[in-house]
Amino acid sequence: MIMNNDAVLDEVRRVLLENDDFVITAHVNPDSDAVGSCLAMGLSLKKLGTRVNVVLDKFHDKNSIIPGQELIWRDEAAAPAVSVFMALDCATPERVFDPFGLMKLAPVTVCIDHHISHDPFAGHVYLDSCASSTCELIYRLVSPMIELDSDIGSALYAGLLTDTGGFRHSCAGPETMRIASELIKLNIPFTDIYNELLERHSLAETHVMRAALKNLDLPRNGRAAFSFISSEEMADIGAEATDTDGISEYLLNIRGVEVSAFLYERFKGEVKASMRSLTANVSEMAKAFGGGGHKHAAGCTIRAPLTEAYAEMSRAVLSAIETA
Ligand code: 5GP
Ligand code: MN
Repeated sequence: MIMNNDAVLDEVRRVLLENDDFVITAHVNPDSDAVGSCLAMGLSLKKLGTRVNVVLDKFHDKNSIIPGQELIWRDEAAAPAVSVFMALDCATPERVFDPFGLMKLAPVTVCIDHHISHDPFAGHVYLDSCASSTCELIYRLVSPMIELDSDIGSALYAGLLTDTGGFRHSCAGPETMRIASELIKLNIPFTDIYNELLERHSLAETHVMRAALKNLDLPRNGRAAFSFISSEEMADIGAEATDTDGISEYLLNIRGVEVSAFLYERFKGEVKASMRSLTANVSEMAKAFGGGGHKHAAGCTIRAPLTEAYAEMSRAVLSAIETA
């Protein structure tokens, strides 16, 4: 059943109450909403007295401020026991981080997501593309079931805060603010969470930004902003994939820019693209390259040399601007 209604929420609540051995995961390269929703869900299940493990792909160090890290499965050789497999913040099965292939083995699968590009793939699907974040959906799910504490509140706040760009984006409505207010009442360290997740950056990130700005192009009189970083530049800096976070947002924030795209060469022949827009639907653009995301923030992987990927991406973005 796929609906964002109370019947599906109740169905998922029954799954939480009637099972044990939960494995919770999110999309590959998890952001703070993915990490926050998994750890909040894990901590909530702990309160319900169930066995739970959170299986997460490598994430940015800043997310170590999110409580519940002790629930993360650290054994790369052996898989945790699974009765219920929960995929959070995942739009498609290909995006699910599942190194042990547990999704196929689990008797019960649950998916909770807010991506507009969601393609249903689990047994129980709770989807609301109008929600600010997956953390907002986890709040809806668990707040009537358990007493929230400061740790769960901090984990949920991390997703609300970051997926709304610091409560700025249009997806942050009155309900998001009401939930944030409820979380703040739990005495969460909201100033530290904000600083750590949205403001602070490492030296490597600063060097990546310098390289990105050196490679900046502003075609169509600055209505678009494109940049890239090659695998050689990444190696010279000693930067990792997560050090490229936030660059596409930075480019979109240049006055006059309507769409931005940042390309990062993972290795020769594979390029990750991040797109951001004020108006154009970049989710559709990303889908054309086999990716997806949200209307104003999307991404994809292009299997081509960097120069070719860059040319294809800029062509797609510029033609979207022309027709906007
Ligand atoms: P980012 O540009 O920050 O990596 O991702 C922006 C949004 O697009 C996120 O919601 C993310 O989940 C989604 N996204 C990024 N890369 C991909 C991809 O390769 N495939 C899909 N389906 N979504 C992606
Ligand atoms: Mn999200």
